[in-house]
Amino acid sequence: ETFKVELDTPAYKGSVSCNTGLFINGKFVDAVEGGTIDVINPSTGKLLTKVAAATSKDVDIAVAAAKKAYKTSWGLKVPGAQRGELLMKLATLLEANIDEFAALECLNVGKPWSESRGFDMKLTLQTLKYYAGWADKVHGHTIETNEQKLAYTRHEPYGVVGQIIPWNYPLTMVSWKIGPALATGNVVVLKPSEITPLTALKFASLVQEAGFPPGVVNIIPGYGSTAGTAISMHPDIRKIAFTGSTLTGRKIQEASAKSNLKVVTLELGGKSPNIIFDDADLDQAVKWAAIGIFSNSGQVCTAGSRIYVQEGIYDAFIQAFSEAAAGLNTKTGDPFSEGTIHGPVVSQTQFDRVMSHIDAAKAEGAIPFIGGERHSLTEGFFVKPTIFTNCTPDMKIVQEEVFGPVAAVVKFKTEDEAIEMANDTNYGLACAVFTENVSRAVRVSNALEAGMAWVNCNITTEYNVPFGGYKQSGYGRELGAYAIDTYTQVKAVHINV
Ligand code: NAD
Repeated sequence: ETFKVELDTPAYKGSVSCNTGLFINGKFVDAVEGGTIDVINPSTGKLLTKVAAATSKDVDIAVAAAKKAYKTSWGLKVPGAQRGELLMKLATLLEANIDEFAALECLNVGKPWSESRGFDMKLTLQTLKYYAGWADKVHGHTIETNEQKLAYTRHEPYGVVGQIIPWNYPLTMVSWKIGPALATGNVVVLKPSEITPLTALKFASLVQEAGFPPGVVNIIPGYGSTAGTAISMHPDIRKIAFTGSTLTGRKIQEASAKSNLKVVTLELGGKSPNIIFDDADLDQAVKWAAIGIFSNSGQVCTAGSRIYVQEGIYDAFIQAFSEAAAGLNTKTGDPFSEGTIHGPVVSQTQFDRVMSHIDAAKAEGAIPFIGGERHSLTEGFFVKPTIFTNCTPDMKIVQEEVFGPVAAVVKFKTEDEAIEMANDTNYGLACAVFTENVSRAVRVSNALEAGMAWVNCNITTEYNVPFGGYKQSGYGRELGAYAIDTYTQVKAVHINV
């Protein structure tokens, strides 16, 4: 079964297609129990296609295939250089088809073409190439002990790794997960989000074409409660890498404890503070604050959703920031149209969730300075870029992750007060500081409890810089050399000489 459409749009002309089966042991197959998932286009609310839905039976088959592949044709059997070559081939194939991947992502996620093609695909490609380069550079250390003994370390793969990813950056998340896992010799069973499985399935066809041994990569769409639970409980999976909500992260850790104590790394939610000081460059602060909360319709785990503004710059900032939001509102719509830079949220469920956060904020006394309602487009799941003022630290809109284009602005007087309010959260993914004073920039970014800090910029992510959180935003790091560590376990070898 395949999904195929012809597009004739300003951004993309041509066909877009992908397989709709489960990719297990190098082949596309139906789910054992025959279930399917409806895949919706969020720009229209209409059905795009149906894909196979994995259950625990399919997970068992995929894990068995992966386990066999690990023993016979991957892992320590295959030199790093060979793994790297295959990864580079995969990257090259992706590059050759990149426009089609971008278009498929636009259809399934509602991302504007400029984001999908201009950001997601670029980062995906960079990530794959980067980890292709790592494959033959994973090695341990020699440790001098005493005259009679030599010790050295080996960085060995875990074996079968389970990977569960969300819907906000579907293909990019595939590359963040699969790149370092394969480079280090692991084999994977990856479950894309049930909401956005299409680019992952298309990617599976490239895995096939690149010539990976069957079973090294298995990609199985399915629901969290069935396929997701089966992956996190599976006794033959040694590590889980998860990106998604804090609630699900907890369940995955529990499942690990109840099953086989598999190693778990978690990239979870956030409520990242942006602190804008009186001495900030106003234009830059406005530009980056808008990028921070409105990119990908606010569906970014590092979104700058709490904005603390010092009293001296407050009025000027709010004015300019709301103009930026108003500008985006006029450029909201179909991802493929010229000039669209703001798309829908991903699903009816997310739309309802975002609207209920907006209603709750109004009920608590926050003022929607701009937005605060559904966009005038009646088809699809469009929310107006929204800025709440009059926010106080205890409000839900300041504490809870909305995962939509909704900013909560809080006024502050002193640096200490800003730091205290910014750290008053269970999350700790990221933060941003805007000031022209370098001492303050260093002091404040050091004082904030977050795994990533941006100074005079926001939510920029580089494939070679570690990505991950503090506190309930998770642990373990993706990207850069740090991800190599999270996909390997260290063996110490002692030799009596
Ligand atoms: P989610 O936790 O509901 O789903 C994420 C994935 O987990 C999906 O594939 C889903 O099917 C699966 N899942 C759901 N329940 C499961 C269970 N019980 N066991 C195993 N798997 C299960 O999150 P979402 O709504 O898809 O994504 C939005 C959330 O993800 C936000 O909270 C956001 O902050 C977070 N996120 C974090 C990062 C990061 O890197 N820190 C990146 C993107 C998204």
